[in-house]
Amino acid sequence: MESVFSKIAKGEIPSYKVAEDEHYFAFLDINPLAEGHTLVIPKKETDYIFDIDETEYAGLFLFARKVAKAMCKVIPCERIGVAVIGLEVAHAHIHLVPIRSIYDLDFKKPKLKLDAEKLKSIAEKIAGAMRDA
Ligand code: AMP
Repeated sequence: MESVFSKIAKGEIPSYKVAEDEHYFAFLDINPLAEGHTLVIPKKETDYIFDIDETEYAGLFLFARKVAKAMCKVIPCERIGVAVIGLEVAHAHIHLVPIRSIYDLDFKKPKLKLDAEKLKSIAEKIAGAMRDA
């Protein structure tokens, strides 16, 4: 069965899309640790990130770097923290989280509750910064 993230990449399930190209897709995490918390995925479905073939793995991180640079331009933060967990959704993904301290990357923290309008405007801001890059 297809993962929820494959369905998101195909547009079969809605998401707050930030960026995409032929192979990769970035969208806001629906339960964000911080405003702008973004997930970057390969469109091709692989569960465990270290099982991805070398070329696609390198491409995933290069794509994530572009997204992170765009995030930094429009989300107030000191830098973008990176995490790979993958215990909840079995489709490889990189978490990009705007941070100011190590505690901002604590996944046990209560998640933010942002309404649809706020999420949409954050996604649009990052998408705009991607286009301007
Ligand atoms: P993990 O697999 O442990 O790295 O966690 C999966 C992440 O995906 C969590 O932070 C969830 O909030 C996020 N997530 C799950 N379903 C969706 C969805 N439909 N749209 C956006 N984010 C999601």
